[in-house]
Amino acid sequence: MFLGFKKITNKITKLRNQEKIKERKNFYHDYINKGIRWKKLRFLLLKKFPYCYCCGTEAVQVHHKTYINFGKEKLDDLISVCPVCHQIIHNLILNEESITYSNAHIIQKQLLGLQL
Ligand SMILES: [Zn+2]
Ligand SMILES: [Zn+2]
Repeated sequence: MFLGFKKITNKITKLRNQEKIKERKNFYHDYINKGIRWKKLRFLLLKKFPYCYCCGTEAVQVHHKTYINFGKEKLDDLISVCPVCHQIIHNLILNEESITYSNAHIIQKQLLGLQL
């Protein structure tokens, strides 16, 4: 009986976690794709820093140096990037499981020689 109970509890915990991850993904998706605040911030940053932080070509995307202030970012939390460098940042750095968003900028700095 106890083992069965534990299995169910584990299953519920697993489902709850999946639900949480889904919620977080949806929140992120809505914020980035529909949020007026994000649109404005993105516009401001690209106007202020029109060139890619990594290579100096025209920047068309915005990268979060940190997600600590996600939802109420400051301009300092973001960098303007071109699609190529953005891809590099995410492929090389953020996909490493051991690396969290909060320490990603330190590794970015080391790898890409950025001054963040
Ligand atoms: Zn670039
Ligand atoms: Zn990014």
